Amino acid sequence: MSISGTPTPPIAIEADPSSVTSHLSASRVEISEANLEELIATGAAVTTSDGELVEASRDWWPLAMIWALDGEVAALASVVVRPSDAHQVAAVLKVCNDARLPVTPAAGRSGVCGASVPLHGGVLLDLTSMTGIVEVDTESLTVRVLPGTFGTWFEETLQSDHNVTVGHWPQSMALSTVGGWVACRGAGQYSTRYGKIEDMVVALEVALADGRIIRTGDAPRSAIGPELNRIFVGSEGTLGVITEATLRLHPLPTYQRRSAYSLATFADGLEVCRRILHRGATPAVLRHYDEIEGDRSYKTGDRQVLLVMDEGDPALIDAVMGIVDEECMSIGAERLDEALVEQWMGHRNDVSALESLIRRGFVVDTMEISAPWSKCAEIYSAATKALRSLEHTMVASAHQSHAYSDGACLYFTFAGNPPADERESYYISAWDAGQRAVLEAGGALSHHHGVGLNRSRFMQDELGEGLSVLGDLKSALDPNGVLNPGKLGLPDPWGGPEWP
Ligand SMILES: Cc1cc2nc3c(=O)[nH]c(=O)nc-3n(C[C@H](O)[C@H](O)[C@H](O)COP(=O)(O)OP(=O)(O)OC[C@H]3O[C@@H](n4cnc5c(N)ncnc54)[C@H](O)[C@@H]3O)c2cc1C
Repeated sequence: MSISGTPTPPIAIEADPSSVTSHLSASRVEISEANLEELIATGAAVTTSDGELVEASRDWWPLAMIWALDGEVAALASVVVRPSDAHQVAAVLKVCNDARLPVTPAAGRSGVCGASVPLHGGVLLDLTSMTGIVEVDTESLTVRVLPGTFGTWFEETLQSDHNVTVGHWPQSMALSTVGGWVACRGAGQYSTRYGKIEDMVVALEVALADGRIIRTGDAPRSAIGPELNRIFVGSEGTLGVITEATLRLHPLPTYQRRSAYSLATFADGLEVCRRILHRGATPAVLRHYDEIEGDRSYKTGDRQVLLVMDEGDPALIDAVMGIVDEECMSIGAERLDEALVEQWMGHRNDVSALESLIRRGFVVDTMEISAPWSKCAEIYSAATKALRSLEHTMVASAHQSHAYSDGACLYFTFAGNPPADERESYYISAWDAGQRAVLEAGGALSHHHGVGLNRSRFMQDELGEGLSVLGDLKSALDPNGVLNPGKLGLPDPWGGPEWP
């Protein structure tokens, strides 16, 4: 076992761990002495210490950070189990399946939708002891890595020991793990060049609820039926536990260029990004901020701000940045100091602001969604209007954070200052207003944060009959429903929480 990092608590809980309670009213499954012995017999580390139960039971869901101020977690696990290899994971799952115990996989616990919250107690399967790089194939440019490996250690080791990069740079790089990236279908900030995690996964090893271990994928672009990787990418711990991932690599870039522009309107910013992508240019970073976010971060007044950065082979990057500049000039953009990109790069992994805002009584969250280009401008207007129309909203803003040939991710931020006893109801209203506006205007619920608990209530509207197909898949792979119950809008044998 190699240590690559540990979870970072989202906010300190000041209460004594033994007094911490579950905020949600979901039914709870305790672990019997006999089950505890079976779990210990798998060889995995097992603990029921109050301190460990409290820490392992929470993630970075901002609403649960508010509850933490009152000495509560969303829901408390009954036992934390830490396997150190795939066979132990499979053995633990078999115990849980046979005894009908809910089992919630968790790793970095940096999810922001309550996905790793052990809604019904039971087993919290902590994967952070399964860390390290198994093998690097520098000829094919692939890496096999264990699921609990944290991002910063992983990327630093690949760069220093092998001169390669995965190119996956989520803002939560230091907080999150490879297994979490795959399970949440995450995106790095450079996804326009390197793709999202689903574009990076070559193969997976997965432990199923009944204790089988399978391998998916492997050969490049094979045609051997539907691609099984895709079943597990984004499954948020509800269909199986990822015990190893094989990811694509890229040579470590030695050349980088940056540029910044100001545009007249948000719609202009979207249009120029669309044109750049449609000319085949895919700069790693192509971020367009509305005037509120531009001014908040870069003091640019009422101007919209576009930041661009690309890296790789000089011939390619010069061509890409040439296309970017041509398109920006053709739409009437003004060139800004490229030092703004440097400024963004210096702060892009800073995650410290949230705790102090929540401690000061504000309700703050972000809502990232995905949409085709043809709907983006309308969604921006509809969602910011819906959020601003709520009593207590102080600000609602957005930027376009990731761009592709067919569409983009719009990343909304909202903040409100309701009275203390209305913080939860304001939070729920804001999510209802924002997500309904997005769905009505033709967008998808999420681009990279996933669904978890917070977005479960919107899944029927998002997927329609498709949700029943996902339910069929769940029934086939996890017939007793033990894996991460209550998430992704799937049927929950324990009845789900009475929330919201
Ligand atoms: C400040 C901040 C910034 C963020 N920025 C980004 C960003 O830029 N891009 C982005 O994509 N996300 C971002 N996130 C969200 C979060 O970091 C990602 O969702 C991340 O992929 C979660 O990884 P984790 O290891 O923390 O997983 P956890 O939070 O522990 O778990 C998340 C989900 O994955 C499941 N899971 C975890 N490991 C496994 C496994 N091995 N097998 C099966 N299921 C598993 C859990 O059951 C749960 O459903 C951000 C979060 C924060 C707090």
